[in-house]
Amino acid sequence: MDSGTNNRQSIIYIMLFVGIIILVFYSFRQQTVTTEDITIGQVAQEIKFGKLTRVIVNEDELELIYRDGTEGISHKEPDATFVQQILELGVISAELNPENVIVEVKPPSAWFGVINVLGYILPFIMIAGLFWFVFRQARGGGSAAMNFGQSKARKLTGDNPTVTFDDVAGIPEAKEELAEVVEFLREPEKFISLGARIPKGVLLMGAPGTGKTLLAKAVSGEAGVPFYSISGSEFVEMFVGVGASRVRDLFDKAKGDSPCIVFVDEIDAVGRHRGAGLGGSHDEREQTLNQILVEMDGFDTDTNVIIIAATNRPDILDPALLRPGRFDRRVILDQPDIKGREAILEVHARGKPLAPDVDLKTIAKATPGFVGADLENMINEAAILAARNGKKVIEQDDFQESIERVIAGPQRKSRIISDIEKQIIAYHEAGHAITARSLPEADHVHKISIIARGQAGGYTLILPDSDRTLVSRNKILADMVSLMGGRAAEEIVFSDITSGASNDLERVTKLAREMVTRLGMSSELGPMVYGKKDEMVFLGKEFTEQRDYSESVAEKIDNEVRELVGSAYQRALDILKEHRDVLEALAEKLLEQETVDKKELDKIFPIPTPKDGGMPVKNTK
Ligand code: ADP
Ligand code: MG
Ligand code: ZN
Repeated sequence: MDSGTNNRQSIIYIMLFVGIIILVFYSFRQQTVTTEDITIGQVAQEIKFGKLTRVIVNEDELELIYRDGTEGISHKEPDATFVQQILELGVISAELNPENVIVEVKPPSAWFGVINVLGYILPFIMIAGLFWFVFRQARGGGSAAMNFGQSKARKLTGDNPTVTFDDVAGIPEAKEELAEVVEFLREPEKFISLGARIPKGVLLMGAPGTGKTLLAKAVSGEAGVPFYSISGSEFVEMFVGVGASRVRDLFDKAKGDSPCIVFVDEIDAVGRHRGAGLGGSHDEREQTLNQILVEMDGFDTDTNVIIIAATNRPDILDPALLRPGRFDRRVILDQPDIKGREAILEVHARGKPLAPDVDLKTIAKATPGFVGADLENMINEAAILAARNGKKVIEQDDFQESIERVIAGPQRKSRIISDIEKQIIAYHEAGHAITARSLPEADHVHKISIIARGQAGGYTLILPDSDRTLVSRNKILADMVSLMGGRAAEEIVFSDITSGASNDLERVTKLAREMVTRLGMSSELGPMVYGKKDEMVFLGKEFTEQRDYSESVAEKIDNEVRELVGSAYQRALDILKEHRDVLEALAEKLLEQETVDKKELDKIFPIPTPKDGGMPVKNTK
C-alpha cells in the first residue's frame, strides 16, 4: 500500500473517532433535556402566573430569574424559538410585555454554532466516508468510487522513463519490431510522407513472464509519448455495463493526447471468442470487446494512437481482433534460449555485487525453460541467500542453490525437462528439419528450437516461401514426410518412440484424409469429394462431418489414408538413415545451444538441390 492510501486511511479513522464522540455528546445532551426538573410547560405556566421576571435564552438553554430572586434552568425544544413554544403552550402575547417578563435572547456564540452544525453533519460525512472507503476496498484500489464509467487507465508520460529497451534482453526479434513502432511515434512525418500506413495495433504474444508488460513499458519510455496502460481484467471488474464506457473514455482521452500509446495488458480477459460456449453469458466482455473494435476501426489514418495489447493466450483470442486493420502486427516473445538467458541475466545482474567466480553462461546453461521473470526471481533469491549467509558478494553456489529453489517452485515443476527428454526432443526436431530440407518441394526451415512453445516440446519453424493458392500433390506429400521426420528420428536413434509426435501424427493424418476426401488426389478413389461438412455455428468453430458414402467406400478411404501416411513415414526413415551423420551433428548443436537458425543449418546441412517453389515440373513429352 502506498503512503497516499495510508493517509486516506488514517483520515477515515479520525473521522470515525470524531463522529463517535459527537454521537455520545449528543445523546448525553438529549438526556439532560429529558431529565430537566423544570419543563418548558412549567415555564409557560410560571409566565402566565407572573412568577418570572426574566428569561435569558442562550441557545436552547433557558436561564430563569424569578420575582423572588431565585433562579432556575430549563431547556426549550431545539426546533422552534422560545417565544413560539410558549405561545403554543397557552401564553398569550400580551403576557410577554416587559412589565410581566423580559425575554432576552443571547446571540448564538459562533463556536457553539459550529459545534452544533458539525454535530448534525459529521455523522453523515462519517457514514458517507465509510461507504466510500468500503467501495474503494471492494474495487481493489484505484480512483474515486463514483466514476465507474471512466477508464482507470494509468497515464505515464515518457518524460522520465523507468524502463528502456536496455532493460529488455533475450528477445531480439520482438525488440526490433517494437523499435520500429517507436520510430513511427517519434517521426510520423517520415513514414506518412512516403505514404506508409502506421500500424494501429500491435499484439504481443508470449508465455507468462517472457517480458510482454516490460516490453510495452520500454516502448513508452523510448518513444517519449504519453502511455495509457490498462489491464483487460480491469474492464470486467465488478459492475456490469461499465466495460464499454471505460473503453470509450480511455480512447477519448488517448485521441486528445495523440501521438500516444494505449496499452491493454492481458487482453484475453475481454478478447475471448465471442459466441463460443453455449448459453453462458459473456455479455459484458462482448460489449467491451465490441467497443474496442469500434474504436480501433474509427481511427483515422492520421490519428497517431498505437494500441499495444498483450496476451499469453493468443489461441483463445477472438478472430475479429486479428483482422487486418486491427492488431495487424503480431510480435511473438519466445522463451529465451541459452544466449537469451545469458543476456537477461546480465540485465538483472547489473548493479549487483557478483563474486569474480560467477559465470553467467554456466547459469544460463543450467536454467533451460526459464523465462525472464524466472531469471529475475532466481537472481533475487541468490542475493537473499548471500545476504543471509553474511556475504558481501553473490557467489556461484548461491546461484546454484537458488536455481534449485526456483525449479522446485510449484508452477515450474511441470516445465522442466530431463536430460534424456531434451535429447529426444533434439533428435525429433532435427528429424523434421533434415527431412524438410532434403525434399525440394517442402518449405524452408527457418529455425529449429528445443525450447518448449505451447504444448510442443520443441519446434521447427518451417515457413512457405510465398503464399500459395495452389498446392500440388507432391508438396503435400513432402509436408507429410517432414511431419513424420520427428517420429522417424526417434525410431532410428532410440529404437523407441514417444508421445511427442502426437500433434505431428494428427496433422499428417488430416492432410492424408483431405487429399483423399477433399482434393481428389487419390488414384484409388478418384477425383471426388466424400462427405459433407457442416459448420456448427453455435458451438463456436466446431465442424461435424456428414457421411454421404457407403461403408465400403469408408473402408477404402481408411486404407488409402493409412497407405499415404505409411509411405510418408517410410520415406522419412529412408532420408534420415541416409543422412544419419547430419542428424547427429544437428542434434548435438541443438543440445549445445538450444536453437539453430537458418545460417547455421546451411553450414551443417547444405541444401542438396535448388528449390523450385514446389510446383510440379511441366511434363514436356
Ligand atoms: P509478462 O507480462 O510477459 O508476463 P513481465 O513483463 O511482467 O512478463 O515480466 C516480469 C519481470 O520479469 C519483468 O519485470 C522483468 O524484471 C523480468 N523479465 C521478463 N522478461 C524479461 C526480459 N526479456 N528481459 C529482462 N527482464 C525480463
Ligand atoms: Mg504481463
Ligand atoms: Zn514434431
